[in-house]
Amino acid sequence: MTRHFDYDLMVIGAGSGGVRAARKSAEFGARVAVVEEAALGGTCVNVGCIPKKLYVYASEYAAAWRESAGFGWQAESVSFDWSTLRDNKTKEIARLNAIYERLLEAPGVDIIEGHGTLAGPQEVTVGETRYHAEKILLATGTWPAMPEIPGIELALTSNEVFDLDRFPERLLIVGGGYIATEFASIFSGLGANVVQSYRGELFLRGFDHDIRQFLAEEMRKAGVDLRFNHHVTALQSQSSSVLAHLSDGNEPFDAVLYATGRKPNIAQLGLEQTGVTLTEAGYIKVDDAFQTAEPSIFALGDMTGGWELTPVAIGEAMAFAQTQFGGQAQTMDYHAIPTAVFSQPPIGTVGLTEEEAVAAGHQVTIFESTFRPLKHTVSGSEERTMMKLVVDAESDRVLGAHMVGADAGEICQGLGIALKMGATKADFDRTVGIHPTAAEEFVTMRAPRD
Ligand code: FAD
Ligand code: NDP
Repeated sequence: MTRHFDYDLMVIGAGSGGVRAARKSAEFGARVAVVEEAALGGTCVNVGCIPKKLYVYASEYAAAWRESAGFGWQAESVSFDWSTLRDNKTKEIARLNAIYERLLEAPGVDIIEGHGTLAGPQEVTVGETRYHAEKILLATGTWPAMPEIPGIELALTSNEVFDLDRFPERLLIVGGGYIATEFASIFSGLGANVVQSYRGELFLRGFDHDIRQFLAEEMRKAGVDLRFNHHVTALQSQSSSVLAHLSDGNEPFDAVLYATGRKPNIAQLGLEQTGVTLTEAGYIKVDDAFQTAEPSIFALGDMTGGWELTPVAIGEAMAFAQTQFGGQAQTMDYHAIPTAVFSQPPIGTVGLTEEEAVAAGHQVTIFESTFRPLKHTVSGSEERTMMKLVVDAESDRVLGAHMVGADAGEICQGLGIALKMGATKADFDRTVGIHPTAAEEFVTMRAPRD
């Protein structure tokens, strides 16, 4: 007897991965539904990349205004209104939520509001309703994780920080990853006194060591109080502030933001009703085709514990839809994924760090340049830029390109194409620069570092 399925595909989670997988599968002719318990677009659109980048833009104006004096601009005073930024951000997100709704509805995807729970290998319940689907895709993302210290309930996560009622003049940020570092620059740029507390020797573990060190110097110059080998042992409520017990004493703050990593969103997902298994780190275990140990259930995006980036979730979703409903098997290519940390100045990076290249057995030649960008010869800013190329000495292939400086993300997107194509240092050298730009330095570095 052929079983009746309500859908060919049910997707749980309408974030970066889920929306793209649902849309694309429906465009290939599948009958698709997507279940979402919060807002369409997921983390990136609602409490991640998009509001974050809008706040980055907002925070750059103060420095731009200060620097404009050297170029002849004069103004009596400027002031910043947090509620204007927050409310304009909220309006823009609402506009994007509506666009996502239309993007899903256009190819005929049913949007089901509520919490999706697996009731079996081909069954999903949402509230009282039970659906049968031939295939199920989990794309429920991740959620902030915080250590259990006394008073941790007083801390904010990145989920709440965008919508604070009042601007925090004194902000403690705990963590040394992307989120902590980006928010340290954002709030410092907006005028707060920011302490960033990181438990290790140097923040941004996993990025190139020289780049991490250079960014630390630049952020300190810009006014962020970076404290490494530093610990928070407890938080305590005080009339209108939070008293933080720190390894170097007690200090009051208006707000404390914890950005200490994220864990997969699998609570009340009903995994126990299926054969889906987890990795040692607690993420959903999948193969190259995003298939879990339960053959009818697939998973992709942040909850599978790879690169937690929107373009990666989208790339995986494209490969999934193409394979399952597009009639052509496709896998995701994880080689040379470019990424940026939107700190001030930002990091842009693609390919191997010097440490990774050496660990992988490459004999490396390093090209490195630090300089004061042309703009700051007149702006009065002390900000400097750093660029670094990691080259395989034997083949001349560029293994990694790294930068700290204005527009690093924009520049490294282009370098990502070059690295993907297997560019050699000689290819970089025979490329004509665009003058005067900072990016031209990537094609004019001639002498290797000693
Ligand atoms: P998500 O986008 O998290 O979507 C998961 C969805 O599933 C959510 O909408 C959730 O509500 C829903 N859901 C969960 N459980 C259920 C359930 N049981 N039933 C129904 N719905 C459910 N990446 C970048 O590339 N660039 C950036 O600049 C960037 N900035 C970021 C800044 C911050 C502060 C954060 C937190 C993340 C940032 N990221 C950035 C990472 C990016 O947001 C994620 O990689 C991306 O959103 C992952 O997509 P996803 O589809 O795996 O999950
Ligand atoms: P990360 O994993 O990048 O960083 C977590 C940080 O918290 C690390 O510095 C870690 O230290 C520290 N930490 C972990 N546990 C504790 C603890 N118990 N006490 C003190 N410190 C702790 O996570 P994020 O939350 O910053 O970001 C999550 C992911 O979201 C990122 O990895 C990234 O993929 C994505 N993202 C991407 C962005 C972009 O593309 N621009 C922006 C924001 C997020 P240690 O290093 O010592 O382990």
